[in-house]
Amino acid sequence: MMTFERVIGQETVKRFLTQAFQQNRLAHCYLFFGPEGVGKLATALIFAQALVCESQDRRPCGACRGCKMFQARSHPNVKVIFPHPKSAKETDIQSVLEEIYTQPYTWHSPWAAPTISIDEVRGLRRDLGLSSRGGESRVILFLDAHLMTVEATNALLKTLEEPPELTYFVLISSAPDQLLPTILSRSQHIRFSFLSIQEIADGLAQWTDLPEERRYQIARFAQGSLRRALALAGENVQQLREQAVEMLRTAFRNAPQRALWVSQQVQQYDRRMLIDVLESLLHWLRDAHYLRLGIVRDEQQTWYEDRETLQRFNERFPDFDFETAMTEVDVSIHMLQRYVQPNLVLSVLLNRLKRCEKHAAPEAALRRMVV
Ligand SMILES: [Zn+2]
Repeated sequence: MMTFERVIGQETVKRFLTQAFQQNRLAHCYLFFGPEGVGKLATALIFAQALVCESQDRRPCGACRGCKMFQARSHPNVKVIFPHPKSAKETDIQSVLEEIYTQPYTWHSPWAAPTISIDEVRGLRRDLGLSSRGGESRVILFLDAHLMTVEATNALLKTLEEPPELTYFVLISSAPDQLLPTILSRSQHIRFSFLSIQEIADGLAQWTDLPEERRYQIARFAQGSLRRALALAGENVQQLREQAVEMLRTAFRNAPQRALWVSQQVQQYDRRMLIDVLESLLHWLRDAHYLRLGIVRDEQQTWYEDRETLQRFNERFPDFDFETAMTEVDVSIHMLQRYVQPNLVLSVLLNRLKRCEKHAAPEAALRRMVV
């Protein structure tokens, strides 16, 4: 039986894979797809270990020769392929590989625009050409498979068209729409979903020593991603929230004050941190909007600590266009993720947030005209 204790949630996926494994109905190529930070890699690693485990019953057993080699990252039949530039140093590649094994929820690429190159797939095809030792399973994981070049994809396709015996591929991707259709049609698709607040709180209990209250506080904030939650665990959530409010205030100040604020932010915080502040702003706007509409969210909602600030904002800007504002913040987050210059993103966002103030709901506009 496969054991998935380390994988948080994803019960449907676990059940499906366990059954396929037990009934010996494994596909040659899987596509694990779904949002970032929900357990695709963690699942793929257990799956790989189970395939090379030599135990007869509980797989992976964690004790046999196969498991030991897997745990030492040295199993000859397990290959983890991940995007990196051609110029990447071997020591960097090794340290990323170590992170992949030890931190499957939070590993990140240190490179700006890495790809999976044709050389990588050629090397793999060469290795696979050698016969597997004594009928043992081989498994190849492709992390961020959508970052495979077209040439690399075509080379991989050749292998998938005539898969070597007992060889299993797992393509992992949070952007499967960027994969070639020919690859998509050759793989069995396994969908991973967002995690529940409870599952994220459980994940935080497993990976951190945070007190329970704070685990739930962060879990509510993590938008279904354990990766987000673990990143937030290292940050002060309340402080992010205050920074978000400060940003909104700045939007209503004059141009030189706004420019000064933007340059301070860009100097002080890296891209990742700025994204966190913007996500925090998104939450704050949603809370203020809900408060105005009179919608009470879950009763554990602790953010209403700053209920007064939310209320004051609504009193001062009764016609604030929350939906447009939230869309603008969302767009800005995406631009930061796509490496657009932070000072440009923040300047544009402040201007647009200010404009949301001038929006008047149709009925309010109508009232004014009548008066
Ligand atoms: Zn084993």
